[in-house]
Amino acid sequence: MKETLAKLEEFHGHLGPYVVVGCRMGELALRLLGAKKYFELKIASKAGTTPPVSCMNDGLQLATGCTYGKGNIKASDEGMPEAVFIQGARSLKIALLPSMQAEMGQWLRQDGERTAAARVYELKDEELFEWEFMDTE
Ligand SMILES: [Zn+2]
Repeated sequence: MKETLAKLEEFHGHLGPYVVVGCRMGELALRLLGAKKYFELKIASKAGTTPPVSCMNDGLQLATGCTYGKGNIKASDEGMPEAVFIQGARSLKIALLPSMQAEMGQWLRQDGERTAAARVYELKDEELFEWEFMDTE
């Protein structure tokens, strides 16, 4: 676990809760879809380009190997901590639970970003996210 957080910090430049959210979300998507890293997925993120929520996009890239350079991740500017993972004809939507987003904001203010990030990393998938499979049209 420490190793993953260190990689996230190295790649992203700092450790905050949203980069961890992205990483956990990406790992969950790979697991639920049974997909391999780098080439088997496309990601449509809604996390936009404004931190802290957009920090999620870097966690997604690190966890899934989908990168802006390869064009298999895109972020639309809704500023929402959710993403759709597309694997062929299947897709999976994963969103951070609104209650968790509120709690994370509180941890950030009270305990600072590193502590908030470590705490997010310890949570179970069901505590962090809601998800559903969708048909790709
Ligand atoms: Zn960040």
